[in-house]
Amino acid sequence: MALPEKDGASGLAPFNSLRTLPRLQIIDENQAFTNELPNYMKDEWKLADSGFNYNLVAVFGSQSTGKSTLLNRLFGTNFDVMSEAARRQTTKGIWMSRGKDMNVLIMDVEGTDGRERGEDQDFERKSALFSMATSNVIIVNLWEHQVGLYNGANMGLLKTVFEVNLQLFQAARGKEKTLLLFVIRDHVGQTPLSDLSNTLTADLGRIWQKGLENCKIDDYFDFMFTALPHKVLLPDKFEQEVVKLRDRFVNQNNKDYVFNPNYSKRVPADGFHVYAEGIWDQIMSNKDLDLPTQQELLAQYRCDEIATVAFDAFMQKIKGYRQPIEAGKVLEDLGPQMEEIRNATIKQFDKDASRYHAEVYKRKRTEILNKTNSQLHGFYLGQLKNLTKRAITIFKSKVQEDLKREDYDFALVVESARNEAEGIFLKGAKAIVLSETDWSFEEEQLQLSEEINEIASKSRTEETKKMIKALEKSFQSQLNEHLGLYLNKPGPEMWVKVITKFKDMLDNTEHKLLKRAKSFNSSEEENQTSVDNLRKRSWQLLRKKIDEEVADNIFEEKFRYDDEGIPKALNLIPLFAQIQIPGDVKLDIPSDNELDFDESLIILSETRQHDLTVRFKRESDAFYLEAKRSVVSTTAH
Ligand code: GDP
Ligand code: MG
Repeated sequence: MALPEKDGASGLAPFNSLRTLPRLQIIDENQAFTNELPNYMKDEWKLADSGFNYNLVAVFGSQSTGKSTLLNRLFGTNFDVMSEAARRQTTKGIWMSRGKDMNVLIMDVEGTDGRERGEDQDFERKSALFSMATSNVIIVNLWEHQVGLYNGANMGLLKTVFEVNLQLFQAARGKEKTLLLFVIRDHVGQTPLSDLSNTLTADLGRIWQKGLENCKIDDYFDFMFTALPHKVLLPDKFEQEVVKLRDRFVNQNNKDYVFNPNYSKRVPADGFHVYAEGIWDQIMSNKDLDLPTQQELLAQYRCDEIATVAFDAFMQKIKGYRQPIEAGKVLEDLGPQMEEIRNATIKQFDKDASRYHAEVYKRKRTEILNKTNSQLHGFYLGQLKNLTKRAITIFKSKVQEDLKREDYDFALVVESARNEAEGIFLKGAKAIVLSETDWSFEEEQLQLSEEINEIASKSRTEETKKMIKALEKSFQSQLNEHLGLYLNKPGPEMWVKVITKFKDMLDNTEHKLLKRAKSFNSSEEENQTSVDNLRKRSWQLLRKKIDEEVADNIFEEKFRYDDEGIPKALNLIPLFAQIQIPGDVKLDIPSDNELDFDESLIILSETRQHDLTVRFKRESDAFYLEAKRSVVSTTAH
């Protein structure tokens, strides 16, 4: 059986797969942080997508106390073990690997023994800070014979741990704890574990009290104690106990299960590399390090990264919309589509970002929401504009169609076209208002309504004109039909007949006008103007007709003579000289610059009457003489 280590013992329960997961030196001997952590998290350890569902264990203890050996046994890792033969020191730095078949990252800290070898304790302090800032559980590994040696290296290390802890967690006191799991190695068994743990607890209390009297050790730490038999002397027992110990790391039902949720440093797996590197940077630059600030910084960084990815995908999805909207199209499903794309973007952001620092996450969520909304708002405005255009087109064509009908009611035509057009706008506009926005279209709605008013009013003016023109035309043909007749039969009753008929026709036309005017919702004033104009126009038509007829009649009669040989036309001159309004007819034709009613009653002025009389007489005399001569000459033949 191939085991991760050459000294693998037979008692080790086999892991599910034999391949050892690769390890990574995250901090090298020059104290530089690796670039490989994201790759390892993702591809080698496959933990990047595990959210909060992972834990981190680090180990502390003097050099060569079997730490790496223990980790390899417990977690199936492959950390360097100091060879018995060579007694070389293993590579300095901090190593990381993933526990086999468990979502656990393991950190093996090498060279934390500067104290014993007289080196400066700089790296010890740095790696303690780093471990405390990242791990849920810290294994403190020590020989049984080191227990009770209050001034030994172990206690110095723990003092460092405590100091470092206070620096890190002051701001988060009581909220987050770390488990210190003491593993006592080469436990002979003479002193029971309970005695050993009492001794350790007492020592820890004493270290803690030195200058740390304001807070309790229990506010920051939980403790567990366990012991392992001598690996070399009792290899089988050792392996048995290791298997038991492993159960505490993998079995949530074990009463000693180590991963209490409040040991979590609340770093989502996809942000672990950022967090870890950030912590190390802070440590290296000797800056004050506190976890809440680190978590906030991490959240800002990661939420921005997550938002950028989500926003890029969003921009990709919406890029097809701009062109058709700018080309004036109304996109039918724009509302639901925008909502879906926007929500998918926020959901994508939420999925990863919601694990980070709540306030930062909320702030960044608002940011990306506003950013996506403001992109979509452009489409919204474009679509509103296109909807307005569409509504106006619909309004115009509906009005045009309905006005073709006979006897349309203009007000009703406009009303129904307006309802249809505004309805279409409203429905379309409502459908594109996204949730979680303050978008409104009141202004556009008002604008549409005003534009419709304008078009309606123009159309009303035109239609009114057409209507009046039609009435005038009909008036004119009646005039031709009836009045010609009367004027062709000159006589004492002629004017009574003409004017009575005219008045009749006018009343009739006025009545029609007012009836039609109702459909235009015309005002009293407008009606009065229309009626006045109609009266004036019809009077002018009459007047023109009279002029024509008078001229015709008089000249037609000029060669006709009455019994006394006087031309009949001479009698017609006084009759046609002036329009006679019968006393019982009130015409009310308005006078203005264009028309002076009283003046318009005069058809032939005094001078013209005189001229005509003279002319007719002369012409008739000449005719008479000629006629006589003709008779003579005819007789002479
Ligand atoms: P580390 O420096 O603490 O990581 O110690 P290593 O795991 O490299 O082991 C140092 C030496 O101790 C090696 O030669 C191991 O074989 C040996 N060793 C490992 N575990 C035990 C143990 O439980 N008891 C004893 N006595 N020796 C051990
Ligand atoms: Mg080691």
